[in-house]
Amino acid sequence: MNCNIAVIKGDGIGPEVVTQAMKVLDAIGVKYGHTFCYEQLLMGGCSIDVHGVPLTDEAVERAKANDAVLLGSIGGNTSTSPWYKLPPDKRPEAGLLKIRKELGLFANLRPAYLYEQLKAACPLKEEIADKGFDMMIMRELTGGLYFGSRKTEEIDGVMTAVDTLTYNENEIRRIAIKGFDIAMKRRKKVTSVDKANVLDSSRLWRKIVEEVAKDYPEVTYEHMLVDNCAMQLVKDPAQFDVVLTENMFGDILSDEASMITGSIGMLASASLNETKFGMYEPSGGSAPDIAGQNKANPIATILSAAMMLRYTFDLDKEADAIEQAVKQVLEEGYRTCDIVSEGTTLVACDEMGDLIKERI
Ligand code: NAD
Repeated sequence: MNCNIAVIKGDGIGPEVVTQAMKVLDAIGVKYGHTFCYEQLLMGGCSIDVHGVPLTDEAVERAKANDAVLLGSIGGNTSTSPWYKLPPDKRPEAGLLKIRKELGLFANLRPAYLYEQLKAACPLKEEIADKGFDMMIMRELTGGLYFGSRKTEEIDGVMTAVDTLTYNENEIRRIAIKGFDIAMKRRKKVTSVDKANVLDSSRLWRKIVEEVAKDYPEVTYEHMLVDNCAMQLVKDPAQFDVVLTENMFGDILSDEASMITGSIGMLASASLNETKFGMYEPSGGSAPDIAGQNKANPIATILSAAMMLRYTFDLDKEADAIEQAVKQVLEEGYRTCDIVSEGTTLVACDEMGDLIKERI
């Protein structure tokens, strides 16, 4: 298969970790007979330095011309970097918002998986962590409260703020379809999270999810209220497979789910549109405190590349091979500085990339 990938290394640790992911993809290419063609694009602070803007229209067009985007991270130290003296719409993060919007990325996927070898970093009670967990938080990314109209005004001498939460059935249907499609590639269970006991938007969410579920008879689905879900995530996370939810609930629950895995350097993510196109990136930022020191953990980016193989290119076997290689390296006791513990072997960013590549 021929896979065209726009590569945005970005700022900080971005170039270091993306280079490791490309190494691993190339090893997959050799083993399974695929060609990965990379087109490197600028976004974030590095684009400001060259073009004066965090993302050019040309870079957006080039990204669209590829099958997927592999992104490192963007941004710098927000207190000291000159990029943060610019007006907000010219800063590095404006590039990220622009590319998400231009590519129509409405579905955000964040896996939360507890590695046997990293259980000690899990903040949950031992008997809960011992059961392990492997879930995918699927968050609607372009609708709901964060995109509705808002205003603050004085009414009869009292300051009053209004935010609007709107969803239409089409927005709900397309994310629900994605959620059930993804469940079909996993353990075939969807937990749809809402607040249907209070919100109209949640009642519509529930109705549409039920309609979509009829097309997926193999998938078991349930509804759960968001407050209960927040509790269940720390009480019994092993019960979840795909957690499907709207924008604000997903924002909060995905951070809660990532917290219980114990390490930001391990967390992959994907944002998808209606086609197979997706943007794949680690959940963490540009880590300016360790940038350029060959210390960063590249595993989140390598696992993001595995998600790209699975969800954009339908190369499930190849994605499994990457995930297996990561597990093997952890089993053998290799760790970058963020996850190192007594009795394990500290390795640099590029060494971790090599170790994973060699196990493909
Ligand atoms: P951060 O995620 O960059 O760093 C938080 C802490 O986690 C730091 O101590 C860092 O060293 C560590 N860390 C993060 N990723 C790591 C990895 N792969 N390996 C080892 N350690 C890792 O968050 P921050 O410091 O709040 O933000 C720094 C910059 O990143 C800011 O400019 C912010 O806007 C930007 N940012 C970008 C994205 C993105 O590109 N999607 C996301 C979040 C933050």
